[in-house]
Order: sequence, then C-alpha cells, then structure tokens
Amino acid sequence: MGKSWSCYDLHNSVFLAPNEIRTCCKRFFHENTLKGDVVAIEASEDSNYSVSDIRQAKKKIYEEMNSKGGYNPCNGCPHLEFKDWGGSPIENGIDYLSLEYHSICNMRCLYCCDTYFGGKQASYSVVNLVDEFIDNGLLTNTNYLVWGGGEPTLDRNFNKILDSIVSMNIGPRIRMISNSTNYSEEIKKGIDEDKVFLVTSVDAGTSDVFRKVRGLNGFDRVLNNLNKYSRDNPQNIIVKYIIRDDNCSFDELDSFVEQIIDNDLIACNFQLSCDFKEEDCSPNILASIIYLHNKLRIANVRFIFMDDLIIQRMPKVNDLLINNIDKELKEVDFNLSNYLSFKTKPEYDKLYIIGTGSQAKALVKRLSYVKGFSSIIFVDPNNSFSSNKIDKFPVIKIDEMPNKSNAIIGAVQSSPFIYQSLLSQGKANNLIEEFIL
Ligand code: SF4
Ligand code: SF4
Repeated sequence: MGKSWSCYDLHNSVFLAPNEIRTCCKRFFHENTLKGDVVAIEASEDSNYSVSDIRQAKKKIYEEMNSKGGYNPCNGCPHLEFKDWGGSPIENGIDYLSLEYHSICNMRCLYCCDTYFGGKQASYSVVNLVDEFIDNGLLTNTNYLVWGGGEPTLDRNFNKILDSIVSMNIGPRIRMISNSTNYSEEIKKGIDEDKVFLVTSVDAGTSDVFRKVRGLNGFDRVLNNLNKYSRDNPQNIIVKYIIRDDNCSFDELDSFVEQIIDNDLIACNFQLSCDFKEEDCSPNILASIIYLHNKLRIANVRFIFMDDLIIQRMPKVNDLLINNIDKELKEVDFNLSNYLSFKTKPEYDKLYIIGTGSQAKALVKRLSYVKGFSSIIFVDPNNSFSSNKIDKFPVIKIDEMPNKSNAIIGAVQSSPFIYQSLLSQGKANNLIEEFIL
C-alpha cells in the first residue's frame, strides 16, 4: 500500500536553471542514449514562477511515471525506486536546492557544454522564488544547497545574493561550485564561517594541459586562489580532478600532485571523477584514477573519494579488466597492493558501508572487493534513516559501528562531512585507505 515509482530528486529537489526549472541533474545511458537533466518547467522570457507551478509540474511527471508506459525521459534511470514516498513531490519541503540560474562562464571546458557556458541569464526572478521557498518553509529542513551552473562569481548580483542567503541561516553549508579564476572575499568569508563549501575542478598538472582541457590560460591563478581560500579552513574545500584521455598521463598526474604540495593544498579534500559523456571507464582511465588516488594518499592529503560518475561507469571487474589495468600500471612500477579487488582477501569478514543513499547501494553492486566480505552492514551517518534494512542488508546507527572494523564511505557530496564526523568520533581509522575496485 502506498508504494509508487519515483526518485529522490523528483520528490525532494529543485534545480533553478537559466531558462528552465529542472527536477534532477542526473545523467545516465539508456539504450545507447544519454538521458537525464529532466526538465519540470520550460521558462519563457520574463515569466515568473511560484512554488505551486513547480509542485504541479513535478506532480505531472510523477503521475506519468506511474502510468502504463512510464515517463519516457526517466525510463531506464538507475535512480528510480519503488517505495512509499510519503506524499507528493516537495510536499514536505525541498531537501536539495540547486542555484544554477545563469550560464555565464569565462572557461570552455571540453567536458562542458553551452547549457553551462552559453551566456544566458535567468529568465525569471531567482530572488523572488527563493524568497517564496523561505516564506513557505520549504527550506527549513534543506540538507543540500548547491550553487553552480556557469561560474557563480560572474553574476553581477552574486555577492548580494550570497550575502542574503548566508544571512537567512537556513541550515546547510552552500556547496559553491566555482572555477576559482576570480577570488571572492564573500566566498572566503563563507568558507571561514563554515557556511560555504567550495568545489573547484583543476583537471591538470601543467598550464598547457589546463589550457587545453579548460579553454583558458589560468592554471596558476586558480591554484593561487585555492591557496588563499584554503588558508584558514581547508576542510571546507574540495579539489576535483576529472580524469580524461587528455589529462591522464602519469607525468601529468605527478605534476598535479606536486602543485598540490607546492600550493599548500594537502589539507583539502580531493574528489576523483571522470567525464560524464563517456559511457564506461576504460582500463587506462581506471589505471590513472588508481595511480592518482595512490599518489594523493602518499602526499598525505586530508581525504580522497571517487564520485558516483566513476562508480556508475565502472566496468565489470574480472580477470581481463584487472590484467589490463595491471599492464598500464606496470609502466610505472606501481605496487599492485595499492588497490584492492576480488583478488585481495579482506582483513575482517564484515564490511561497514557508511551511507544509505544510491552511492552506498551502488558500491555493493559494482565493486568486486566488496563482494568478498561475508556480511555487509550499512551505517546511517545521520541517525535519520527510516528503516533497519536496505535490500537484504541490515542498517545500524553510527554509534553501533565497532571501533575496529573495515569501513568505506558510501556517499558523494556528503563524503567529506561524514569523514569529518568519523574523525571527531575517533572512527576514521576504520576506513580502508586503498583504492577499491
Ligand atoms: S528518475 Fe532519473 S532521470 Fe528521472 S528525475 Fe529521477 S534522477 Fe532524473
Ligand atoms: S568552469 Fe564549469 S561552467 Fe565553466 S565551462 Fe568549465 S565546467 Fe562549464
């Protein structure tokens, strides 16, 4: 009773894009077609939208999703779930709000497109809509607030809007996705006051490759700004590397890690990612991801995680894949025990996966090393999960996780926060440090 098809984003998220209001930012391949970024409202020039417009548009998608043929843009999406959603979309508030309302950017990254750098301003009043969210109490329990799209700092109202959102004290830290070509005092203030969490992709170890991949000559400027941003609260920064064929040579990765050390960025968090336009991670991309992971670990950076794009694109892990990866890594005398696969025997028989969302579940499905444990236990990092089971696996509270165990974090955006909470509880030592395949 009460079960239906939907997904976390349809029920809980709102993405404010320049000329549309989207219901998700997920991308996936279905029958060889790239799908996702589902639109709830196509905004026309100078129109204004209200909370009830968004609710209605989402409800329509939800109803179609549960009709006979499903909702075509969502058919085949790995994020669909059949469960009791406790009401209609955003009835209980917005859990995830994304401000990506303009597409003005000074870069032209090869993995990006004019959805993000096409030069469009919002065709509706973002300030009015956000005010309406607040007045209707939709942001009272919001857990994620992401600011991205184009380059946020290039909006002439950026400082004003950031100041007003920060002063609203609506709870979560703003996840600011900026290319860090401009230094903003407001962002720095937000980082220092624990109100802004900055994510900057670097994607290169040299100026030449940076210019090629990012379409702008700004390698030193970005590293210099990251150095300034990170001086007081480096744990509020993620440095990201999107590994592609053109930036994955071992020399380039060595040079990136040297730059991280030289620019005093080792106390930041590091996110490894791959190009969303590629359907699979090839063995040479995986070898580079493993190599970079290991190099960063040796450099003693604060925390490293691989994101959902890598996990979703992980090919089937078997002898052939392992041999191909090993062949690539032999070139650099890489010690194979620096990554773990089904060929490695786990130290304990239980594995604790900290996280209860789709990344946590995907780790069980896609990683071969995980399958070598005789039992898998999910750990609820916020003590807020409503059930004591995920599929056939038990879910426990974080205090119930033993002090000596094997654990991995099964989350994406909240990974650094989970890591911080494990550190403060003295449980971070349980985390497996090697790259897991
Ligand atoms: S089902 Fe998938 S594609 Fe559809 S809204 Fe949800 S995440 Fe987006
Ligand atoms: S910096 Fe961001 S928005 Fe700009 S081109 Fe690159 S990926 Fe796109």
